[in-house]
Amino acid sequence: MSDLLSLPDIKTIEPPQENETDMMFKVEAVGPPERCPECGFDKLYKHSSRNQLIMDLPIRLKRVGLQLNRRRYKCRECGSTFWNA
Ligand SMILES: [Zn+2]
Repeated sequence: MSDLLSLPDIKTIEPPQENETDMMFKVEAVGPPERCPECGFDKLYKHSSRNQLIMDLPIRLKRVGLQLNRRRYKCRECGSTFWNA
């Protein structure tokens, strides 16, 4: 399924919803981050999340939308926050 999509490090979490003109995939990043990019500490917790719509290349003349479920993480050590996607 993810072979269809041009973003390499995401996975689809539901079958695509399709109508006459559009295909909509719900996706999220593969795996949470293991370490803080700032300090390298490995104790992170989920901070918040939100959905972001990304338009991808059309498939079979249909518009392709990716609804990306982004999660925000916070480092327990240095307090910096970052997205997993
Ligand atoms: Zn940190």
